[in-house]
Amino acid sequence: MDIDNIECVSSSDGVEDDEIHSSVAAHNHHHRKYPLKPQNISNNIAGLVQGIVPATSVHELLECPVCTNSMYPPIHQCHNGHTLCSTCKVQVHNRCPTCRQELGDIRCLALEKVAESLELPCKYYTLGCPEIFPYYSKLKHEELCNFRPYSCPYAGSDCAVNGDVPFLVSHLRDDHKVDMHTGSTFNHRYVKSNPREVTNATWMLTVFHCFGQYFCLHFEAFQLGVAPVYMAFLRFMGDEADARNYSYSLEVGGNGRKLIWEGTPRSIRDSHRKVRDSHDGLIIQRNMALFFSGGERKELKLRVTGRIWKEEQNSEAGVCIPNLCT
Ligand SMILES: [Zn+2]
Ligand SMILES: [Zn+2]
Ligand SMILES: [Zn+2]
Ligand SMILES: [Zn+2]
Repeated sequence: MDIDNIECVSSSDGVEDDEIHSSVAAHNHHHRKYPLKPQNISNNIAGLVQGIVPATSVHELLECPVCTNSMYPPIHQCHNGHTLCSTCKVQVHNRCPTCRQELGDIRCLALEKVAESLELPCKYYTLGCPEIFPYYSKLKHEELCNFRPYSCPYAGSDCAVNGDVPFLVSHLRDDHKVDMHTGSTFNHRYVKSNPREVTNATWMLTVFHCFGQYFCLHFEAFQLGVAPVYMAFLRFMGDEADARNYSYSLEVGGNGRKLIWEGTPRSIRDSHRKVRDSHDGLIIQRNMALFFSGGERKELKLRVTGRIWKEEQNSEAGVCIPNLCT
């Protein structure tokens, strides 16, 4: 939501920004001060942090003119002083891409030193990360930053969309036409007329909204070794640490038999594929699934019921420990 607000006001003047943002993001004054789009922010921030050097140019100097990535040591230069990152240097066959002269093997120590003295905010600054890092350790942090965007949890295609949770929820609803449910219990029926077609993994996704959080329920068919199976599992739209605050159960049955799964939802930081391949969910053999479906075993008709609940935090430790004294 913060992103939307930030983008909405990007054309208005600074005073108005302050007023709008003070109510929206008062918990994070950074948002209020620099309501900039992510792609513009690092240039401008460099100026704010450094103060002395016209920082836009420093930042531009550290951008490889070929691949436009930030340069890290060893930074190379040609005889005329054109700089180049080490990845690109290998690929230009000893010709400076800027002036076409022979490149040689000159390192640009001065620029490396300048970079070392820089301190820059995390690039997920606009998403709420307040951290500032020395140039060379920024990259490491950004790979693990808790504010980094999530990838789209939709499993059916290689969707390249990413963003924060509210953004992805709208994206799932509007672009993938995913079913949205409010509440922590569900009762779903999965019907497929030709369940033998298991090689083309069919799958479904439903999003649940409860406890102020969003959860993705995946249901799909795939080949587990030689056995065709169905699998259902829940993912939490948030980080691993928060996912652990929740539990869920899934039940499927029919004809007097029942399978029950109880687990902890996995974070959507873990890919759909990774969770599936770790078998962290309710797995139903196809024969069993057809048995549950009743009838002539020609059609798959699975009723899956489930529940999501919040784990008691800091519950009195004694409660779970059996009383050995009595
Ligand atoms: Zn490069
Ligand atoms: Zn050159
Ligand atoms: Zn960060
Ligand atoms: Zn998507």
